[in-house]
Amino acid sequence: MAFNVQEIRKDFPILQREVNGKPLVYLDNAATSQKPQVVIDSIVDYYSNYNANIHRGVHSLSQEATDAYEGARKKIQQHFNIKQTHEVILTAGTTHGINLVANGFTEFLKKGDEIIVSALEHHSNIVPWQMLCERTGAELKVIPIDEKGVLILSEYEKLLSENTKLVFVNHISNALGTINPIAEIIKMAHKVGAAVLVDGAQSCSHIKPDLQALDVDFYVTSAHKMCGPTGVGMLYGKEEWLNKLPPYQGGGEMIAEVTFKKTTYAGLPHKFEAGTPNISGGIAFGAAIDYLNSIGFDEIEAHEHKLLQYATEQLTAIEDLKIYGTGVDKTSVISFNIEGIHPYDIGTIVDKLGIAVRTGHHCAQPIMEFYKIPGTVRASFAFYNTKEEVDALVAAVKKAKTMLT
Ligand SMILES: *Cc1c(COP(=O)(O)O)cnc(C)c1O
Repeated sequence: MAFNVQEIRKDFPILQREVNGKPLVYLDNAATSQKPQVVIDSIVDYYSNYNANIHRGVHSLSQEATDAYEGARKKIQQHFNIKQTHEVILTAGTTHGINLVANGFTEFLKKGDEIIVSALEHHSNIVPWQMLCERTGAELKVIPIDEKGVLILSEYEKLLSENTKLVFVNHISNALGTINPIAEIIKMAHKVGAAVLVDGAQSCSHIKPDLQALDVDFYVTSAHKMCGPTGVGMLYGKEEWLNKLPPYQGGGEMIAEVTFKKTTYAGLPHKFEAGTPNISGGIAFGAAIDYLNSIGFDEIEAHEHKLLQYATEQLTAIEDLKIYGTGVDKTSVISFNIEGIHPYDIGTIVDKLGIAVRTGHHCAQPIMEFYKIPGTVRASFAFYNTKEEVDALVAAVKKAKTMLT
């Protein structure tokens, strides 16, 4: 089926609404994506028709719910080309997945060990590692970026040594849109025997990563940035790593046998899934993956690339407007400022015109520090955005500029 953005927009009820008397132009997709009706329906269907706890009952409802939940895990496995279903851990989201791994590494690290992160990281991929360093005495090193917002790989190479135990990098920067060369980063880390965790929160709505081909050790993402609900996500880990890591939380579901003397843990993936999970969320995550694949990632990438090019041209033409993040490999995120105007003021005026953009540091303060700015205005596009919406943004930014200077 040919890509037809007007038809696709009909799948999203929220895109029909108005904000401040104007049609909603939603350009904050890097914060969270909107949800198509099929995803919303899958949640309603679970609660209306087969709500029951999973993995517990022999009764029919519980089995239906378990089948749907485990079916979603299977969809996630296939989508990311993961070798084995039990290497898919269902989490509460990216932040949860990162903390699970960071916590698990506590007993493997000691003083003198080093952890490398990139200067492009989201706070959720900085703070857990700082906490891990505090617990273990390991040291945090940072891969710097150049003016374009691109990681400097020659500097990364210098940081790597036999002391490097872990490398953490995002696949795509949420603040600038830079696509990082993760295949190369992973290869270089493996040469010194370090494990790599990739934060895929920002990438999975734009591209379809092949995790076996990447040979990555851990990969985390959140469903809500890829048309799914909040509060659910994936942690992929290679089996040998997941077997080595201790459980993160204790509770029901994660045990094999419990006595007051000793408890033995369940096998994968249940070892990391204590307690009743977000059942409807997991099922809806599967529905979101089906939906995105029904549109097709080649089509999504092509459409978003066109929007990015067009928006970059149009915005660059505005005098005194500066775009941050100008690398060649970039996804549909544009972070910008107009000289002499605070990003927050632009965001406020643009909102009055029905346009949702993000302003601030985007949970990536080190990047803002690098550019010596308080924050940026960030417009982030999804496959359901249109050229007309780019025009509306550009007109609104021009209007804001006139009003504020
Ligand atoms: C959104 C985001 C996160 C955090 O995801 P949560 O769903 O809030 O846990 C982490 N890293 C990047 C790059 C993100 O874009």
